[in-house]
Amino acid sequence: MATCDVCGNDYDKSFTIKTHDGGGTFDSFECAIHALAPTCAHCQCRIIGHGAEHDGTFYCCARCAKQSGVVGIDDRI
Ligand SMILES: [Zn+2]
Ligand SMILES: [Zn+2]
Repeated sequence: MATCDVCGNDYDKSFTIKTHDGGGTFDSFECAIHALAPTCAHCQCRIIGHGAEHDGTFYCCARCAKQSGVVGIDDRI
């Protein structure tokens, strides 16, 4: 039994996620994403997929990176 860091729900199937700078305990992926997923610097959406990173700034896709003036990032498909 553990309590979710985000919503405080006490749930017997809660889980912990470790990240390079911490992590936490969550009752759902929704709460985990809310707490841990980076935010796109251009459109402010949560980055659930791989996304793109440039100088410590995260973007959800190469298009957002480009629109913010970052050159040299392309979606790898
Ligand atoms: Zn929760
Ligand atoms: Zn974006």
